[in-house]
Amino acid sequence: MRILFAASEVYPFSKTGGLADVAGALPEALAGLGHHVLVVTPWYRTLRADPAPLWVGDEWVPYDGGIAICGVGHLSRRGVDYAFVSHEMFQREQLYGFDDDAARFQLFSRAVPQAAAKLGFHPDVVHANDWHTGYVPMVLEHGWHLPEGFPKLPSVFTIHNVQYQGGSDLDAALYRLRLPGALRDSALNAHGRANAMQGALGFAHRVTTVSPTYAQEIQRPEYGYGLDGALRQVSYKLSGILNGIDTEVWNPATDPALPERYDAADPSGGKGAAKLALARRFGLDPARPLMGVVSRLADQKGIDILVAALPGLVAQGWAVFVLGDGDRELAGAIQHYGNHYRGAVGSYIGYDEGLAHLVYAAADTLAIPSRFEPCGLTQMIAMRYGALPVARATGGLVDTIRHDATGFLFAHATPEGLLWASGVARGAYNAKGHWRWMMEEAMHQDFSWGASAAAYLRLYQEMTGHHD
Ligand code: ADP
Repeated sequence: MRILFAASEVYPFSKTGGLADVAGALPEALAGLGHHVLVVTPWYRTLRADPAPLWVGDEWVPYDGGIAICGVGHLSRRGVDYAFVSHEMFQREQLYGFDDDAARFQLFSRAVPQAAAKLGFHPDVVHANDWHTGYVPMVLEHGWHLPEGFPKLPSVFTIHNVQYQGGSDLDAALYRLRLPGALRDSALNAHGRANAMQGALGFAHRVTTVSPTYAQEIQRPEYGYGLDGALRQVSYKLSGILNGIDTEVWNPATDPALPERYDAADPSGGKGAAKLALARRFGLDPARPLMGVVSRLADQKGIDILVAALPGLVAQGWAVFVLGDGDRELAGAIQHYGNHYRGAVGSYIGYDEGLAHLVYAAADTLAIPSRFEPCGLTQMIAMRYGALPVARATGGLVDTIRHDATGFLFAHATPEGLLWASGVARGAYNAKGHWRWMMEEAMHQDFSWGASAAAYLRLYQEMTGHHD
């Protein structure tokens, strides 16, 4: 099967968040299953590509009432083809955050079919991701001057986070995309404005999110950020497919960031050495069971809940170590407790990949009190490293953690909820046989991309009737 994958960021070429990881890993896994994947993404000024993409030529893209000329670059990496769309609008210091982001990604979405055709790629299915490429399904359905073979191609749209929807002026959006004015009354229209994500929900043949539970949650007002109604309307074509993790990068048996490597057969030596290293570096008492946190310090992640629970966690006997970056007030509160509970609370405020590896290995549990979590990666990494997640029962956390078997779940996003689950974990930690069994269970879970890729493939096959 030939799959066209469109994304605004792709690891290792560009990255601000989890979308880049998915756009990097999923096409590789699909290629590994024997399929031909072309990933189309902007050619940013900050693109990290060595060697640089090969310039293929210019392409005329219908845009803004006329034509925009975009360059197309190409490279192949690990069995996947990449097309990079070049235009002056992507020559900026960062990927997003500009007043004309809507116009920039309308151009990009409009250029996706043209860029693929320039490389002679004729897909069976098109997969767009998040609001930046949310216009792609409607362009395929109604776009003027599409390359041969592209009109009405089956399309999938994946929501990685429903919070960011891409709102802009409706008439301007239609004019730039060169779509018929009749679409003013289509799914693109959210209360008189263009909403790229809502448009994609309407025009894509299938809609997915990154976990089955999140697919249900976003149909409710508490989680839908205003799109819950639109999502309920398309529930017949909406499903959830879990992300995977890179099991080569996250492997305690080969991880060069650890003082001693270990595996599920005998984790205690390696985990003990990691704990001692972390305890020495941050002045923690290594005799206490260690609860780690590796997280953005943000409202979504419930770090305020963790902060409020810290005295209770210390009273339960935990040492707590937080590796996090983000909100300054939350960081300050964590550091305050670090001074107050010396030996029991420690932190590193900043982003440090190597330290993250050490924390997962050192920790007995990983606290994840998220308010919402589309999929979440930290719980999967933690389990692989034998750190049992203590997590809020939401989104992908529900779909990846089995309570009292591979981790601990709590229902309410409150300090009491977190303390309840931490108390259960504390009891289990004392019952050594049970803990050992849980660790083994957690470490044996398969979170590789293979399972996710197979699920996407089944979806593509259902949509297209292609089974090759
Ligand atoms: P997010 O919503 O932030 O994308 P995920 O759980 O999906 O949350 O992914 C978070 C990723 O970022 C994980 O790989 C985690 O190890 C990493 N991470 C988060 N905060 C830090 C930090 N301060 N230092 C290093 N790595 C971090």
